[in-house]
Formats: sequence, structure tokens, C-alpha cells
Amino acid sequence: MSLTSALRAFDDATAETRMIEGLSAWVSVESPTRAPEAVNKMMDVAAANVADAPVEIERLPGRDGMADTLVLRAGPATAERAILVLSHLDTVHPLGTLERDLPLRIDGDRMYGPGVYDMKGGAYLALQAFKEVARAGAAKRPLVFLLTPDEEVGSPTTRPLIEDFGRRASHVLVTEPARDGGRVVTSRKGVGRFDVHVEGRPAHSGSRHADGRNAIREAARQILAIEALTDYERGVTTSVGLISGGTAMNTIPQHCRFSVDIRVAANADGEEFARLLLGLKPTEPDFKVSVTGGMNRPPYERTEAVSALFEHARGVAAELGIDLRDVPRTGGASDGNFTAALGVPTLDGLGVDGDGAHTLHEYALISSLVPRAKLMARLLETLG
Ligand SMILES: [Zn+2]
Repeated sequence: MSLTSALRAFDDATAETRMIEGLSAWVSVESPTRAPEAVNKMMDVAAANVADAPVEIERLPGRDGMADTLVLRAGPATAERAILVLSHLDTVHPLGTLERDLPLRIDGDRMYGPGVYDMKGGAYLALQAFKEVARAGAAKRPLVFLLTPDEEVGSPTTRPLIEDFGRRASHVLVTEPARDGGRVVTSRKGVGRFDVHVEGRPAHSGSRHADGRNAIREAARQILAIEALTDYERGVTTSVGLISGGTAMNTIPQHCRFSVDIRVAANADGEEFARLLLGLKPTEPDFKVSVTGGMNRPPYERTEAVSALFEHARGVAAELGIDLRDVPRTGGASDGNFTAALGVPTLDGLGVDGDGAHTLHEYALISSLVPRAKLMARLLETLG
């Protein structure tokens, strides 16, 4: 393999040091989804990062309490379908986590900090690759990089944008964290979210017990039935993760509310289970059951086109001395679910290696920064 100039940018002795410094600066800017001013500061940092490269920067204003989105374009200005890179710059960690619970620190090969693994590490390294490929003029297709502000809450304001760019893309590369020694992701379950409201009849629990219709008791029956829908063989799980109800210990409760999270491996299952949940009926006529919600992210299935993209990545990785593997289907969803469901070949988990996503022991492996940046650069150069 002849070294392209994009790869050469990551081959000098200081590449890793530069990336540690760059990523540290990104992690130092906290960016929880629900603090749009903070996420916008992170967008400023990312935009400044490519200001000195031949990259066109478009900034789309945020809405509905979410921050802005950056659309970066580079590569040949042709009408061909682009390679689309997807990264989110929001994190699940509230403001103050950096100072209180998860300070930025380096311990051997590990860099700790809020969002360093999910996914500032991946977004950062992919942006460096994008920039160097742009500088080298090495891409065969147009390149588009979307940096979004709301993935961690289900991408309510950016889903149409992601789908719009996805439809016009030849391939989608997602920089969610790598798994278990650098494995990438080629399939994910779909996710549905539902809120259930059970209404009964209130009564004094001592003097009028027989008149009451206990909403918590009815909810309990419904919950057991919903949880029993879990079928590991079929790849379907249901779980009730939130519940509230009642007003006082000596009152038979009128209301009970709970939330259901479902995960499915196949699109048809998503439709079937959504119908089932939205059609829940009370077990006794004196209760009312109402359900809102639906499938949020459709399943990301490992189609032939996804497999072909993975094989291409494996070949490119092998030239870099990396034995690239993928993980069995994961239960966690990402924005890659949206593009994969449109039939666009999508490869995910291209971000940094590490562990502890969404926890206070989240870390990235420093030794994965340069190899993953090289892998991303080669994908951007070689996908035709
Ligand atoms: Zn993520």
C-alpha cells in the first residue's frame, strides 16, 4: 500500500500527543444534551478545529431546546452520493460532572472524562481524519460530516436531517464507541418507548375499601404481562423501568403510570409489539388504560450491503495491521439505526476504544486514537 498524505499526518511521532491534547480540550467543554448553550460551545470548538482546512462549515440553528447542528462538507464537489459521517457531541453527564465526579485525567493508557468514550473520542478522531483527507484531496466521493446535539435523548430534532442526508449517502460511518478490543457494530436492535397510564377509582382504604379500584394493582397485572413478552430467542426484550402511583398510604390509588422500553431485532417485531402495547386493555371494566409512544429507532439489520461495507473496512484495517472484528447484535441503538433502516450501508462503532459509557468510570484508550483515525481516513479515501 502506498502511503497517502492523509495517513502521513498520523504517522509522525507527535501524532498521539497532539490527539491527546486535542481530545482533552474537547472533554473539558461539558455538553449535556439538555444544556444547549453548553453543547453550542462544543459546536464552536469543533467548527474552530476545521477552520484551517478545506472544509465548508454550515451551522443549522437548534430548536425545541436543543443545540445547533454542524454540517461539514469536503472532497470532490460532484453530484455523486456522499460518504456520511455521523457523530453526536452531546453527552449524558450533567454540568459539574467534570469538576465533581469525573475529572479529566490520564492514568496509563486510559483517558477519563465525561463523554470521552461516548463519543467525544470518536467524534474527535473522525474529524481529524476528515480534515486530513480533505487537505490531501484524497476522497473519491463528496464527504459530509454531521455533528449533532441530541443523540442521547433519541435525536428528536435531528432525525429528519439524519434521514435526509442518509438517503443521499452511499455509505454511513458512525463514530459510536468501539467494543471489546476495537470491535465495530454491524447491527443493533430497534428501540420503542411507551408511557402507560392506568386509572382506577379512589377510596378510603379503611372505611370504603370495597368501593376502590386500585390503579397500582391493575398496573401490576399489566406489567407482569408486558414483561412476560420478553423472548430472548426472538431478540425481543421488554422492561418497565419507571413507575409512579398513589397519593397516600391510606388511599386506594386512582392513578398509576409506568414506562416501557422494548428492544426488537426485526422491523416486523417492532410493528407487532407497538400494536400490542398501544392496544392494551384493562383486565376489569372499572379501569381505564391509555398508552402513548411508539418505536423510536428502527432495528439496524446486518444486510448484505452492511456485510460488504464491513468486509471493505476489514480489508482496509488489515493494511494498517488491524484485525477488525464486529460484535454480535447489540441492544443499544444509535443514529446508525435511522440510516440502516433506510437501506443505506451503515457501519457503526468506528469510534474510540474504551469502556464505561454513561458511567462515572468512563474512559477512552489512548492507544486506539491514532489507529482509529487512520482507519477512518482510509475509509473516507477508499470507499468509491
Ligand atoms: Zn453515543
